Amino acid sequence: MTGRFAPTPSGRMHIGNVYAMLGAWLSARKSGDSIRLRIEDIDEPRVVPGAAETMMRDLEWLGLGWDDEPVFQSSRHALYQEALELLSKLSFDEISDIISTGSNDSKPCSTTAGNEAATSEATPLIYPCFCSRADIRAASAPQEGDRFTVYPGTCRRLIASEPQRAKQRLANNDRHSMRIATADTTITFHDEVFGTQQYNLAHDIGDIIVRRSDGIYSYQLAVTVDDLDMGITDIVRGRDLLRSNALQIYIRKALINAGFKPSEPTQPFHPADGSNKPDDVTISYAHLPLIDNAAGQRLAKRERSLDLGILTAHGATAQQIIGYCAWLLGLQGDLKHTKPQPMSADEALGVFSWDAVRANTSDRTLDQGEFNAYFGL
Ligand code: GLU
Repeated sequence: MTGRFAPTPSGRMHIGNVYAMLGAWLSARKSGDSIRLRIEDIDEPRVVPGAAETMMRDLEWLGLGWDDEPVFQSSRHALYQEALELLSKLSFDEISDIISTGSNDSKPCSTTAGNEAATSEATPLIYPCFCSRADIRAASAPQEGDRFTVYPGTCRRLIASEPQRAKQRLANNDRHSMRIATADTTITFHDEVFGTQQYNLAHDIGDIIVRRSDGIYSYQLAVTVDDLDMGITDIVRGRDLLRSNALQIYIRKALINAGFKPSEPTQPFHPADGSNKPDDVTISYAHLPLIDNAAGQRLAKRERSLDLGILTAHGATAQQIIGYCAWLLGLQGDLKHTKPQPMSADEALGVFSWDAVRANTSDRTLDQGEFNAYFGL
């Protein structure tokens, strides 16, 4: 198995980032696996100069080492373009048949069939979308819950009903993103923390953007290409990405069916007897509870008191930070009845198990007073 750290270098790491990195490191090291570092700097406007280098120093200082050379998404545009070109050769019907019949299903990411929309016949898997955000808002039902907007399908219908008009708009160089058409199909996978997960691609996720109108490849495309290309089989991250995981399983299957060849395959890709399909690989998924502040807001980089720059300036040690994150993971016992204790990354490895983490799947509430007292702030 191969795990990964996948930080976005948009600022100094905070406690929430270390918690996720520690989870990924423990999962990989517990089974004696390697762990790769991938700097997710694809969204250049969000990247803070020097943040990647600071992250690497912070990870090493914390005792969370990685294997091999770090991979930078910003140097992989050609790979994402190649992947998108391969996907663009597929028709939606082709891929939705494969997904629905589960003809090359792999455990734990199996799929079950749903009903295909009658209008989807002429849809290519990847299609241009000319909608602005305002267009999408206007055509969408009011948002609920986590404010995830499912794309209402405007341009997918345009391409099915008026393909010439879409071609004309492309010829006119009209500003457009590229989307992947999702099937009315349920993706099922097992999560180490949250158990069996099921998402209907069309209803719960919709046709998401794979290349933005500014030319930037989307997180969803880049991360799926990278995990496949780098042979990643152990994925640990926040539970806000559970739904994305279903989508990434779909994109991964599409990439494999389009003939994408990973540079670090986890299995022989074309064994002579044809017995081994590339997605026979078992991938372990673990999505961690999130960390909220006492007001129920998600930890964000703007919570400066939680960032490693501030903590280390106040003399926080690596053991204190790792101990706090190990406690948040549930590795020091019941969160309600224990107080965090400093420990090294290797000590955390000694007490790590997914059983301990899944004993409490609620989001963690970080009490600023207790946090300050622990770190002596
Ligand atoms: N780069 C993402 C982040 O920093 C993580 C993405 C992933 O693990 O798939 O939140």
